Amino acid sequence: MTDVVIIGAGASGLVTAIVAGRRGKKVLILEKNNKVGKKLLATGNGKCNIGNQRPTLERFYSHNPKFIAQVFEGYGYQDIKQFFKSIGLELIEAKEGKVFPMSLQASSVVELLISECEQLGIKIICDAKVKKVSFRDNSFSLEYNDINMKSKKLVLATGHCSAPQLGGVMDGIGFARSFGHNIIKDFPTLVQLTSPFKEQYLSRMAGVKVESRVTLNTKSGTIQKQGDVLFTNYGLSGLAILDISRKVMEELKSTPEVTLEIDLMPKMSIEQLHSMMKKSLLKKSLKPLEIWMQGFINKKLILPILEPLKLEDETIGSIASNLEKLEPIVSKIKCFSFKINGNKGYKGAEVATGGIDTKEVEAHSMESKKQKGLYLVGEVLDVDGDRGGFNLHLAWVCGLRAGEAL
Ligand SMILES: Cc1cc2nc3c(=O)[nH]c(=O)nc-3n(C[C@H](O)[C@H](O)[C@H](O)COP(=O)(O)OP(=O)(O)OC[C@H]3O[C@@H](n4cnc5c(N)ncnc54)[C@H](O)[C@@H]3O)c2cc1C
Repeated sequence: MTDVVIIGAGASGLVTAIVAGRRGKKVLILEKNNKVGKKLLATGNGKCNIGNQRPTLERFYSHNPKFIAQVFEGYGYQDIKQFFKSIGLELIEAKEGKVFPMSLQASSVVELLISECEQLGIKIICDAKVKKVSFRDNSFSLEYNDINMKSKKLVLATGHCSAPQLGGVMDGIGFARSFGHNIIKDFPTLVQLTSPFKEQYLSRMAGVKVESRVTLNTKSGTIQKQGDVLFTNYGLSGLAILDISRKVMEELKSTPEVTLEIDLMPKMSIEQLHSMMKKSLLKKSLKPLEIWMQGFINKKLILPILEPLKLEDETIGSIASNLEKLEPIVSKIKCFSFKINGNKGYKGAEVATGGIDTKEVEAHSMESKKQKGLYLVGEVLDVDGDRGGFNLHLAWVCGLRAGEAL
């Protein structure tokens, strides 16, 4: 009988295996994909934002925030750095505390993890989809590819259903439920957002990427994110949109639509923008306003700004002679309202919220409180983090804790 079977050769499963293997345990990993770490290979656009130097609690979300604090207690960034050093992977630190492998290649992270598993005699079987798990006669029974096997301990490192094209599934959630675990309902996060605006309105702006500041006003306060916003024919994408998507999805639980206010020129104050635009107006010019605006804003955004203000037929001269008409244009550039009614679904999402209720998991060991010998690590748990390396950070810490406990 194997000491430990780990379901899932992703981030959390591989670390759990290595740490337990180093402590002399006989470990087997079953992976349904045809290769190890498929999602890991896609992280950080192939560069793998492996962690964050400042994993403060407000960067993580769970129905049970106490659990996050307990998981991180005594496990800092240095522990992750130390672990990766021990498998030969050097890390570099970038802006906003983000951490990457020095090679800037997710593939080197996966290959060094696999190589360490091989050296420790940890067996990884790919194309092995676990279909059933149960606990009988003091051991776990598993079924994969019509093979039945037994194990003393079982680790669910199955991830969640984000990015199904990379292997994201709900299998681990089902297994946990079969052991009596409560499941917190999920929704996609770090995801593109859809808009109810008419297709032709959206397609006019599609493809434009602008460094913006995005604001969401909620009853509990204002949330702002700065970064790229990409207009698309379904709605909005870009890093600022992924960053604000979790809060937007929370708001959409109680209302069919929310409005995002997009500051298309966040580096200028409203006064600076007004003054710059005013200076460039010529009273005698008969040129269309649309031509003048191309001097400072993407052409595809001009009519969506002017049409709702009914200013699309004005000339430069007519605005110069009636400066009251300039103010709504400036305001619209600084606060471009965009209705949002949903998201692009799990295919575009980096992470799933929700998962196994962490009230039923021991934070120091990741062991289930429902089933002795069952360990739960990574995204399958009801914990998710912001973009910036926080999700992998969590997966590694879960793996370190579970591996040591095993
Ligand atoms: C495109 C993209 C980019 C991302 N970039 C980053 C980033 O740069 N930084 C960051 O911190 N986070 C990033 N994330 C999030 C991060 O990848 C995940 O949070 C992390 O991989 C979760 O680790 P895990 O071990 O819980 O699950 P996973 O890494 O998803 O591993 C779970 C494994 O279990 C296997 N499995 C599931 N069910 C079964 C079964 N029944 N039988 C056998 N095997 C099974 C799956 O095939 C999978 O390989 C990104 C996600 C995506 C989709």
